[in-house]
Amino acid sequence: MAQLKTTAPDSHDDLRDAMRALCAEFPPEYHRKHGAAETYPVEFVDALTKGGWLAAMIPEEFGGSGLGLTEASIIMEEICRSGGNAGHCHGQMYNMGTLLRHGSDVQKQKYLPGIASGELRLQSMAVTEPTTGTDTTKLKTTAVKKGDRYVINGQKVFISRLEHSDLMILLARTTPLADVKRKALGMSIFIVDLRDAIGNGMEIRPIANMAGHETAEVFFDNLEIPAENLIGTEGKGFYHILDGLNAERTLIAAECIGDGYWFVDKARTYASERVVFDRPIGQNQGVQFPIAKSFVAIEAANLMRFESCRRFDAGEDCGAQANMAKMLAADASWEAANACIQTYGGFGFAKEYDIERKFREARLYQVAPVSTNLILSYVAEHILGMPRSF
Ligand SMILES: Cc1cc2nc3c(=O)[nH]c(=O)nc-3n(C[C@H](O)[C@H](O)[C@H](O)COP(=O)(O)OP(=O)(O)OC[C@H]3O[C@@H](n4cnc5c(N)ncnc54)[C@H](O)[C@@H]3O)c2cc1C
Repeated sequence: MAQLKTTAPDSHDDLRDAMRALCAEFPPEYHRKHGAAETYPVEFVDALTKGGWLAAMIPEEFGGSGLGLTEASIIMEEICRSGGNAGHCHGQMYNMGTLLRHGSDVQKQKYLPGIASGELRLQSMAVTEPTTGTDTTKLKTTAVKKGDRYVINGQKVFISRLEHSDLMILLARTTPLADVKRKALGMSIFIVDLRDAIGNGMEIRPIANMAGHETAEVFFDNLEIPAENLIGTEGKGFYHILDGLNAERTLIAAECIGDGYWFVDKARTYASERVVFDRPIGQNQGVQFPIAKSFVAIEAANLMRFESCRRFDAGEDCGAQANMAKMLAADASWEAANACIQTYGGFGFAKEYDIERKFREARLYQVAPVSTNLILSYVAEHILGMPRSF
């Protein structure tokens, strides 16, 4: 079948060709094997790291490639479009942004070159807590300064890639909620060296889950970290984290778009080849239209994703576009996932076709890293100016 023609405002052919060549070394069987065994695709992530792809957004002075969000998002898109799952490694692409924007010169020199070379993995960020969930400003994990240390106590949940990360960014309360003027104040971010912390005040308990995503519960019991591991200004950590969310949301949008094109490509090919009632099932408009409709939705989401990238790379505000792109893309990939599994009929449920694995992976992005309802709430209140609901 002819290659799927898509509307990419800036096609970046060389970048896409290089990513496609790398991804082709990891055929569907590779991702299927790891998906079924729920194991981490170490070789794939190593190849991405060695190629420097996950250091795309780190400035050249720290050993990265100094590329923009546009290029970084194409890298993530191509991983998903090839049948892989960028969720295994996207943290390495964007978590360093917090350090880059808010870290001291000493911290940047200490960590960024290692992150760029892949020697250090900053794959994890710990925000979500079991009792407070989306209501982040009520989080209960505390960091109390004692001399030249901070002592951490509390609990986190669904913290991803901890077993394949050396460092983690942690959001914790440094001033009790009752003592701050605004609920978003009084939280701080820290860099935690997992190699020292796990087993010394930090314990992790993996959470088996349907999305094939390595994620875990985290328990802090008097974990001590050096005071110099505070990133940015004490008490402003929530705002520091927020600064990085636009990049994260846009990259996840690009992943959903990659997934969406993968589903459409699979579905249109199968629909054109599978013969039932003496004709290809794709000759029936009842089969064609859901696939075509999801393609239209992916194409539209893609335009919003590139607009978010353009604004981010130009240093303009892209909060609205990043949120809208994430929601449009997550919805479109989910629609494509449904159209694809339906097109495959019973075979969609057989693991050997990879549809059911990608179907489960695609569902995650309705909920994480931010749920659809919370994006709608952001749009309603911050863009449309309606009253705040929380
Ligand atoms: C596989 C996986 C990996 C993850 N990785 C990470 C990670 O690395 N780091 C991290 O910090 N977190 C991570 N998360 C957590 C994820 O960000 C949260 O699950 C998500 O933000 C939703 O929070 P919650 O699960 O506590 O849901 P809740 O806050 O309990 O919400 C449950 C549902 O209610 C809805 N809801 C809640 N309040 C409102 C409201 N006021 N109006 C309308 N709807 C509302 C939500 O939209 C949601 O659908 C991960 C989650 C998963 C599943």
